Amino acid sequence: EEWQEKGAAVGVRQEIDANGRPVLKHVKKGVNDFHFGRTLGEGSYSTVIAATDRQTGKEYAIKVLDKRHIIKEKKVKYVNIEKDTLNRLTDHPGVVRLYYTFQDEQSLYFVLDLASSGELLGVLKQMTTFDEECTRFYGAEILDTIDYMHARGVIHRDLKPENVLLDDQMHVKITDFGTAKILDQPTKPPKDNGDSGQETGSPMDGAEVNRAKSFVGTAEYVSPELLTDKQACKASDLWAFGCIIYQLLAGRPPFKAGNEYLTFQKIVSLEYQFPKGFPVVAKDLVERLLVLDPARRLSIEHIKNHQFFDGVTWGRGLWRQKAPQLK
Ligand code: ATP
Repeated sequence: EEWQEKGAAVGVRQEIDANGRPVLKHVKKGVNDFHFGRTLGEGSYSTVIAATDRQTGKEYAIKVLDKRHIIKEKKVKYVNIEKDTLNRLTDHPGVVRLYYTFQDEQSLYFVLDLASSGELLGVLKQMTTFDEECTRFYGAEILDTIDYMHARGVIHRDLKPENVLLDDQMHVKITDFGTAKILDQPTKPPKDNGDSGQETGSPMDGAEVNRAKSFVGTAEYVSPELLTDKQACKASDLWAFGCIIYQLLAGRPPFKAGNEYLTFQKIVSLEYQFPKGFPVVAKDLVERLLVLDPARRLSIEHIKNHQFFDGVTWGRGLWRQKAPQLK
């Protein structure tokens, strides 16, 4: 059975040896090493709980998954994808980091970075809309993180403001890699984002489509190529990024209708409008991202050089910067 294999719940602890000297010992962490506190949220197959490492006092978010439920609902594959992708993405401030995984009879545990300020969607709803400065800052952190994920051979495939969490300093932590795609060649990011990031697995058909569909919470950020060719590529994440930039400034996603089917129709026919007063430079950026042909969408490098992001320091400096006051 899939879960009998033990995860790498390895940590490092300093202990004093027989001669009174400090030594570093590799230890397996388990449920008892954490003090569980408040519940942060519930997913369809999981509960996320704030927890403190009893040894170090460091706070984490622990995602607890019920094994029986996951097996019954055939989500084992997605839990493994989440674990495998997170294990590839441990070196960037914009991704929720996975520190340990372990299990007991009933549950699987993912020990993650705590994102104590919650979802970007919640913050946006409180504000109604973001001003250009905030959109530039959050857009830049999201893009910098997409750049890192793609360079590590991961396509997220479900980017949306609910999956962009915020830490206590109001910096971005992207989460929810259960529907991500790991590419075979986790090498450098390609200069053009057209075909080189093409999914190499079998095309999704029949049950796969339904499964993927039932797994996607909202239809609004799905790229047209996924709907027409059942293929996602790196540029699909940039379509979602265009939807997010639009939403931060407009207060609602560009493609929204009464049901999923109508939303899909709008997406494949590129049917959306900008609200009055939408900033001109941002409009130009969004128009170059919401392009039906993924090969003709702006690449990450071109987005970084777009006038909308003028003045942004890319790279680690962005993450050391103080987050702007929400306006
Ligand atoms: P579903 O599985 O139904 O799509 P989900 O992906 O939101 O839902 P979880 O990943 O279990 O499910 O997250 C449940 C809730 O916990 C979410 O509302 C999320 O905002 C919150 N949450 C998840 N991870 C963290 C974290 N690292 N820090 C703080 N809150 C988190």
